Amino acid sequence: MPRLDKETDLEYKRRVIDIKSASFCGAKWYNATIWLGSGQTTSCHHPLPHAIDVDAIRTNPSAIHNTVKKKMEREQMQKGERPAGCEYCWKIEDIGRDNISDRVYKTVIYSDEDLAYAQRTPASTDINLQTLEIAFDRTCQFACSYCNPAFSSTWVKDIKQHGPYTQLVSDGRNHFTHAHDNSQLYKFGETNPYVEAFHSWWETDLHKTLKELRITGGEPLMSAETWKLIDWFKTNRGKSTTRLAINSNLGTAVDIDRLLAAVDGVEVDLYTSNEAVGLQAEYIRDGLVFDDWANNVERLLDSGRFRGLHVMCTVNALCLDSLDSFLDMVMNWKLEYGRDAINFSLNILRFPSFQSLTLLPRDIRQRYAGKLYRFANDWLKFDLMHEYEKNQLDRLLDYIDVVMKPHTEAMEQVTLQRDFKNFYTQYDQRRNKNFAETFPALADWYKDL
Ligand code: SF4
Repeated sequence: MPRLDKETDLEYKRRVIDIKSASFCGAKWYNATIWLGSGQTTSCHHPLPHAIDVDAIRTNPSAIHNTVKKKMEREQMQKGERPAGCEYCWKIEDIGRDNISDRVYKTVIYSDEDLAYAQRTPASTDINLQTLEIAFDRTCQFACSYCNPAFSSTWVKDIKQHGPYTQLVSDGRNHFTHAHDNSQLYKFGETNPYVEAFHSWWETDLHKTLKELRITGGEPLMSAETWKLIDWFKTNRGKSTTRLAINSNLGTAVDIDRLLAAVDGVEVDLYTSNEAVGLQAEYIRDGLVFDDWANNVERLLDSGRFRGLHVMCTVNALCLDSLDSFLDMVMNWKLEYGRDAINFSLNILRFPSFQSLTLLPRDIRQRYAGKLYRFANDWLKFDLMHEYEKNQLDRLLDYIDVVMKPHTEAMEQVTLQRDFKNFYTQYDQRRNKNFAETFPALADWYKDL
């Protein structure tokens, strides 16, 4: 274990990180998200993605991770300088001297020896990844309201058919105004050099060093590359100790029979997303048939073929109306299949900011907090929740509570609410949906926006 027994985050930071430099972060060396469709990478979810040099990967496939930019940033971190793209962490640390930012959590997962190696090794050296999230392409049969065309081919169709969403003042990065054609540089059937480089690196080195490989999308189970990789694990059993994890929306089009057959004998964690029930879930995650999703989850649970099944809840303004009922459902699965058979995480949505729960008025948020307290009261008496699930529930309740305090940026709130109305008015027209009928508890507030 990289962390000593009972060592606090701050003690760990002082013992391992601060002695290296004032800005060291293990993720810059050992972690990456790589979008092979767009040829982009980043060290964690906070810095903006940057382009991978397509010429460099022809001779050095590890350059899909070891980009010139990352090497420059590693050098900065070795010297204690702050890479600008990591602003998310610097902002948190600048609030108070001992504030713990994500760079501590993203560093603690690696061994002290590997971190020492990162600090003393010339920044020009290529580093083998230990944790990797990879997307082969953006093919997806869903077009969730908080997603955008960069990650979903169905979102691309929405924009191509109906044109850009208009009057979204807070959409500074223009997520909803164009089809993000640069997210899919190569057509289907064309050779994608980034995908080729990944396979080449995987075959030669990466499968020996990588501890965790998470395949994301789009919907990864709609990509032939995902099946190819699962197959690699099956035919090369024992050759790699990499933990394989797959994100899937488990929608109607996902071939569950094929999935169950493919993972037989392969250790896989499956991550799926949802955060509401019934028509509300189908409204938020457009393309979802809620009952099919629930049946698919039960089929996976019945099969017992997955090392872990994880439900990721993206907590947004709309899901709070039925998040408690959704979590009841997950807890009932725990009751039936066991505490470890299925887990949940509560990830608070920050972008698009006009879908954040912070724009809901105080009385509505209070009501929703009450529903979650009811959920906690009902279930905490059973020993079914993991510590991190309880912590995330506490964090969400704290978050709802904090944003209940008078808002100092009222103008911003008004702008976000206006964007919320403008977005969902267009979403209803394009997707043949009805906000007020789907969310009656929000209908009066929505009408007056
Ligand atoms: S310093 Fe922060 S933002 Fe930068 S890679 Fe590490 S965790 Fe991510």
